Parts: sequence; structure tokens; C-alpha cells
Amino acid sequence: MNILKTAKYVTQDSHYQKINGKSIGFIPSMGALHAGHLSLAKQSIDQGLYTIFSIFINPKQFNDAKDLELYPRTLENDLELLYNIGVDAVYCPDTIDVFGPDYIDEQMDLGIIENIIEGAQRPGHFIGVARVVKRLFEIVQPDYAFFGQKDFQQTAIINKLIELYDLPVELIICPIIREPNGLAMSSRNERLSTHTRKQAGFIYQTLCTLKNDLKLLPISIAKEKALATLNSHEGAITEYLEIVDGDSLAEIEYLEKSKKPVALAVVKLENVRLLDNILL
Ligand code: AMP
Repeated sequence: MNILKTAKYVTQDSHYQKINGKSIGFIPSMGALHAGHLSLAKQSIDQGLYTIFSIFINPKQFNDAKDLELYPRTLENDLELLYNIGVDAVYCPDTIDVFGPDYIDEQMDLGIIENIIEGAQRPGHFIGVARVVKRLFEIVQPDYAFFGQKDFQQTAIINKLIELYDLPVELIICPIIREPNGLAMSSRNERLSTHTRKQAGFIYQTLCTLKNDLKLLPISIAKEKALATLNSHEGAITEYLEIVDGDSLAEIEYLEKSKKPVALAVVKLENVRLLDNILL
């Protein structure tokens, strides 16, 4: 497995592989890897792609300095996990290598999807994501990029980025990997007490019940019921529960009005924001 610290070598590696007839699969991450991240890499490997994985904690997507400071850093362990599943190359740069002295924040019009739902809770987050992904795409020049459905709105942002710049990358959205109780895997889960982590499966269970209820009940009633259930759990505060169209992220009143309806939720437990979603 190639471990590369500089953009120059990553671009060279990518070119070399393409000359030799390989296509490139790319998985960007911020490290602290778990089975969710690894599933993205496995999908790329299984497709026979030369798989490049990046580990880079992007300062531009943190609107809270404390959150950035607290973000777990487990590089040695991450590299071992990636080596064990057969990743070809890992790009693990310092910030200066990604955003060098000449880098200027690019103005991008991502439209309404940047500032609603998760974007409303975290101002500047998605433009920070878009800027780093654009920069990483320039460095890696992938044919395919793998992102998790777990961060649903992020996948809409990446779609928009690809469309906006007509980038020659195909976005592949991978399913959410969950803990045995249904809790969506996340590096943030480590911050929960053992007791709360065990209980936290109720978020996904409630989303499943909501999906079922929507077969019979109008959206407003089913949503109210799900909200009441979520908030009935000890210490749970629902930041949002939205039922939207998966492409435009606009709220919908009738499921039939959308080709890809989805329920998006953030529930706070012990001050940890837990994201989840379900396709309806
Ligand atoms: P992050 O390191 O949090 O930026 O995540 C890197 C990638 O892994 C993103 O595309 C995430 O959506 C994806 N990811 C995170 N958690 C999961 C999960 N539980 N299942 C599938 N993909 C995930």
C-alpha cells in the first residue's frame, strides 16, 4: 500500500495507473475509521478499481473550533485497517499540502441546498466540504468517488459540485453501515457513554416505524408521531426531522410528489449530534 503525503505524488500515481489501463476509485475521509468507511473502500476494490483513500481533517468544514480540536486522530490504526482490506494508496497530507499558500477560497454557488436542514445548523460547513472535495478531486483525478448515504445532504452537495464544474467523476452512494442495534456508525459514537450508545438504536427504529406509518398516515401526522417518539427517550433532543425530496431537498407534503423521498434526522444525545436517514 502506497502511503503518500504530498499531492504531487498522488497525481503522479493516479496518472501512472491510468496509463496502465486502470480506473481510479477514490474515498475521501477524515480518518478515525470504522466499518462504514471501510465498506466504501471495499466497494471500490470489488469493482476492480485502483483504490485511493484520503485521510484529511479538513479545517474548512468545521464551524466550531472545539469540534475540530476534539476530532479523533488515529492514523496508525487507520492505515492498518486500510492495508488489511487491500487499499492501493492512502493520501494523508498536512493542511499546507492541500491548501497551499497560493490557494484562495473559491466562490461557489451551490444553491439553496447549502443552507437548509444540516446547512442551517452548521453555517459554512457544506461550502467547506465542497472546497476540499474539489481540491481533492483535482489532486486524485478519480473516475469514481464513493460517498456514504449516511451524510445524505453531503451527497447532494457533491452531485451539485460535479454538475457545476462538469467534473469527469461518477458519484457512487453507498449504504449506511450500522451497529448491531441499528445506530448508524460514526466516529462520534465513541463520545457516547456505553449505556446511551446501547439505547441509541431507537433513532433508526423510529425512522423504520415512520417509513411504515407513511403507508397509512399523512406526512404531517406520521412526522409528529415520530418526533414524539424520538423525544420521549431519556435525554434525547431532536434537532430536526425532515421529510424531503432526495434531489432538491425541498420539503414534501405527499410522498407521491417525489421520485426519491427521504427522512433526514439529527438527534442529540449527551450533546453528541447523531445523524441518520432513511429512504422512504
Ligand atoms: P468522514 O470521515 O466522516 O468524512 O466520512 C467519510 C465517508 O464515509 C463519507 O462519505 C461518509 O458518508 C462515509 N460514512 C461515514 N459513516 C458511514 C456509515 N455508517 N456507513 C457508510 N458510510 C459512512
